[in-house]
Amino acid sequence: MKIARFNGGKIGIVTGDRIADVTAVCGVDPGEWPPVGMNRIIANFATLRPKIEAALKTAPTVPLADVKLQTPLPWPHKLLAMPSNFRDHAAEMKTSGFGVAGSLPADEAGFFMKSNGSLSGPEEAIEIPDRPGREFHHECEMATIIGTGGKDIPVDKALDHIFGYACLIDVTMRGKGERVMRKSFDTFCPVGPWITTADEVGAPDDIDMKLWVNGELRQHSVANMMIVGIREQVQTCSEVTTLVPGDIIASGTMAGVGPLKPGDTVEIEIARVGKMKLAVTSRLAPV
Ligand code: MN
Repeated sequence: MKIARFNGGKIGIVTGDRIADVTAVCGVDPGEWPPVGMNRIIANFATLRPKIEAALKTAPTVPLADVKLQTPLPWPHKLLAMPSNFRDHAAEMKTSGFGVAGSLPADEAGFFMKSNGSLSGPEEAIEIPDRPGREFHHECEMATIIGTGGKDIPVDKALDHIFGYACLIDVTMRGKGERVMRKSFDTFCPVGPWITTADEVGAPDDIDMKLWVNGELRQHSVANMMIVGIREQVQTCSEVTTLVPGDIIASGTMAGVGPLKPGDTVEIEIARVGKMKLAVTSRLAPV
């Protein structure tokens, strides 16, 4: 099942190129603050799913092109992220000069965090701040969304705790400064275009991950090339912090990171999960 947020906080189920509004059956108030409707849907999904499926039999649908998709989970309790998690990216960071001194691959470093405030939607632009001389890079990643929470989740039980997956771009200002700040500018974490539930995706091992800039393929790898795999990410994070429904773990990226500039278009596709295409603008002078 592909679960989306759209048109000011409504909840929709995507089938092909159409979307059905299931806001009412999910018991979500689109205007609520904080916007935690999706968190509750995830927490109560075992009960809600049959109701949603029943509603879909008669629910009217509209073309996806006629709605504005929003980031599916705007208010997670935690936005966790894996650092250098593909060997080819770890190597390029060593030679590019952008790597932070002493930075370690994910199997030694653990995780870091981005501000939840950096989350943005599949139809919002990535806004490049006014920081002369700095580069702002794309990082193609997969978001794992936690379903059932837990502490000290063992690797062989990790898949039982995953609700679904989404595309995620970990936009990063390179160079000096705290990593959490360099990765936390508004719009620096597009997630979407929806959450695809884990049952529809299957085992998260052979999933193709691709990112294009202006139509040119810049990043491409497969999930099973991660140093710390999806199951191990759940184990590693839950050993430190209790995971709760709706927590997001960003997978880390493969080689091929590079600058985004105002006027660019960036496209990301995670196989069996989804695809989204975003504009890049300048915060000072929108293109
Ligand atoms: Mn990253």
